[in-house]
Amino acid sequence: MRAVLFGDSGLSMIKKPIPKINQREVLVKVKMVGICNTDIELIKGYYGFKGVAGHEFVGIIEQSPQKPEIIGKRIVGDINRGCGACVWCMRGDGRHCPARQIVGIAGWDGAFAEYMKLPLINVRIVDDNIPDECAVFSEPLAAALEISQQIHITNNQRVIVLGDGKLGLLIALGLRHFNHRLILVGKHKEKLRIAAEHNIGTICIGAPYDFENIARKEGLFDIVIEATGKAEGINDALKIVRPEGIIVAKTTSRDFSKIDMAKAVVDEISIIGSRCGDIDLALSFLRNKLVDPMPLIDSIYPFEKFSEAFERAVTPGAKKVLVRF
Ligand SMILES: [Zn+2]
Ligand SMILES: [Zn+2]
Repeated sequence: MRAVLFGDSGLSMIKKPIPKINQREVLVKVKMVGICNTDIELIKGYYGFKGVAGHEFVGIIEQSPQKPEIIGKRIVGDINRGCGACVWCMRGDGRHCPARQIVGIAGWDGAFAEYMKLPLINVRIVDDNIPDECAVFSEPLAAALEISQQIHITNNQRVIVLGDGKLGLLIALGLRHFNHRLILVGKHKEKLRIAAEHNIGTICIGAPYDFENIARKEGLFDIVIEATGKAEGINDALKIVRPEGIIVAKTTSRDFSKIDMAKAVVDEISIIGSRCGDIDLALSFLRNKLVDPMPLIDSIYPFEKFSEAFERAVTPGAKKVLVRF
């Protein structure tokens, strides 16, 4: 099969054998895959990753020894695989297993290949009414909706999302169902327009960011969701959160964040880290058309043109680039 290898010399299209599976795994023929900022970080050396990346995918089950009735089904997947034996895994929380593998990110080859394997328990069947172009968003949408599972967002709170990147936009589109006054802050007019079309309040800022000005004009916020992708984003969040407010931190930057801890301590701010979420919840949002990811698609490339797709994905301001097999 053909696969895209991330290695020392960057990206290369290689031939490698179709993965062999065991009794507890399935073989998936990949149909579509999304390129995520994490993939871009991986190729820059984040996690020291070498192998086949790709963790936002839709595919068809081709082999499933333990559950043959799902062969031919269209699926997406949970990307975390715990060791199955530690205290975290015993509690059913393999997401935080210290020895976990993450599909396409750590220790498990991902979906930038014609075939991939997946643990059977990670498989989620996609409803027929969700097209591939939407289903491929289930992993990032799950990460966006994870915020709703971590903190109690009410409709009368003042909620603001910092960053109109792919994740920030998905967060705004998902969380607007919990808070109708939610505001998205960003610097890309086109992306903010998508939010505005969904009745989300928007603030367009130029660089250098002037968060003091936002605080003066808009007041302070009960909940600030930081999805800027920048190490300094957390300090911007601190400038507009109210005393005893909550900051949800989504950015995983390679650069070390220096946080104004004195401000966080004196104002008694809760800072909550937030990562992957529940794929079933994301599929439910897609099935019920609560979030329509279609406007977030930048372009769709055939797998043969993967390097062009990747080049497009790293272009500043690009929306979600998808690859079709
Ligand atoms: Zn991702
Ligand atoms: Zn474990």
